[in-house]
Amino acid sequence: MAGIEVTSLHKRYPDGTVAVEHVDLSIGDGELFVMLGPSGCGKTTTLRAMAGLERQTSGDIHIGDTLVNDLPPAERDIAMVFQFYALYPHLKTRDNLAFPLRAEGMPKAEIRERVEEAARMMRLGPLLDRKPHRLSGGEQQRVALARALVRRPRAFLMDEPLTNLDAELRAETRTEIKHLQAQLGTTMVYVTHDQVEAMSLGHRIAILNKGRVEQVGTPLEVYDRPASLFCAAFIGSPPMNLFEVEVADGQLRTHGGLALAPPPGLRRDRPLVAGVRPEALEVTPAGTDGTVPGRVVSVEVLGDEIIYVVASGGRDVRVRMPPTTRFAAEAPVGLRHTGGTPPVYDSSTEELVA
Ligand code: ATP
Repeated sequence: MAGIEVTSLHKRYPDGTVAVEHVDLSIGDGELFVMLGPSGCGKTTTLRAMAGLERQTSGDIHIGDTLVNDLPPAERDIAMVFQFYALYPHLKTRDNLAFPLRAEGMPKAEIRERVEEAARMMRLGPLLDRKPHRLSGGEQQRVALARALVRRPRAFLMDEPLTNLDAELRAETRTEIKHLQAQLGTTMVYVTHDQVEAMSLGHRIAILNKGRVEQVGTPLEVYDRPASLFCAAFIGSPPMNLFEVEVADGQLRTHGGLALAPPPGLRRDRPLVAGVRPEALEVTPAGTDGTVPGRVVSVEVLGDEIIYVVASGGRDVRVRMPPTTRFAAEAPVGLRHTGGTPPVYDSSTEELVA
């Protein structure tokens, strides 16, 4: 097993597109590390460079102690799983699993042992004698995962491996991957544009935007204190409310008059924006003490919670409330902040300042 170090990685494609700009990542041995970001942010390019499928323009990649810049994929001792299953259609599951081992010239008895172990881990026993066309999408993807497992690589690289599965199977396979990684303790780099997947899987998450790393942190760190306005707007569903704020009399206030808990040491010599999660706000009956007035614009009942959009202070504010609350559309209401100190950003640099 091995950690992965990416240093000053830069990738410019022949047509001039800069896909990755000076990316530094330090992925621990045994870590499940997620790269998250919108389409086109450079996740796949970074992962393919780690795998050796794409040559970086500059920068270094170490897997364990080995500088792998000049090593072909087969010599990097990694296994990759893609969004598309890429199984050999004419081979039964057991032969699909054995294929990479046979290619290495491994003795038959050892191949059998490894195939059986991987089949047990991915619960493929009943499927070993079927060809891919007799497997469901989810089963095919489990075979693809098992085929990565049999090689016992130093690291797994996964590029959106669950994209083609339906919601239920996605959640189920996600749990399996997480469990498997914990059991094996093998370093895994997992690329996704799905924040729920990232939050539920990652020990740490790197958020990428336009070829650069905006933040690296645990799921809670990136949720509680997004490092930039981009991260603040990207993480969370619905995302944070971003309010322009002013500091006056030791208070942090939005232009709509909503009082927020001010972070200590906040400088007031620049325009500021505070990020307030929908669950850090409360909708109350109109006129409640300590609230600002608003009007319910929409009510989205999600079963275990309700998302209210409230027009207040000349803008729409999203609020997450328990399902027991009953405010109707168009109702006059009050709005107040109930959460802790919000993260505050410099609106010109877009970076976290407090
Ligand atoms: P997605 O989630 O859509 O797969 P991504 O974050 O993985 O996106 P990349 O596939 O790494 O992003 O692409 C990063 C940028 O590089 C994009 O602007 C993309 O259009 C560009 N790009 C990718 N491959 C090539 C290529 N072979 N030639 C030119 N530009 C490319």
